[in-house]
Amino acid sequence: MRILKISFMGKEIEVIKHENFDDCYGAWINDKDETHFVKVYYSGDTEPCRITIRQDKKQRKENGCFGFYYSEKNQMHLWCDETKLKIEEIIEVIGHELGHIVDPIYNDKIKEEIKADKYSEVARAAYQIYKRIIL
Ligand SMILES: [Zn+2]
Repeated sequence: MRILKISFMGKEIEVIKHENFDDCYGAWINDKDETHFVKVYYSGDTEPCRITIRQDKKQRKENGCFGFYYSEKNQMHLWCDETKLKIEEIIEVIGHELGHIVDPIYNDKIKEEIKADKYSEVARAAYQIYKRIIL
């Protein structure tokens, strides 16, 4: 586990990078019974998805990168498989999670995910500009 403390949007954020997927997922949902259902919001969905913990874990692990922002603790948790993903894809996930820290924070989960996705696009574009004309 690696921890980085950063200042972002006037908040002190702790970024926690987990070494393995199960630790990161366990910090998000600590229910050990994988047959239980959870309501999740995948990027691009227009409504929540009801899925078992086992299915959700499988899907998120296959994506190669998983993160979430724990607002009560000002913590961003991240896990990524660097061997599977491009830098851009990891940056997108980080941008998305940072997007959850930016005001306004919507109570409507779909709206909140759409807002966070915009920040993942910003992060990706910034990286593209850096890579193509600055690097
Ligand atoms: Zn999100």
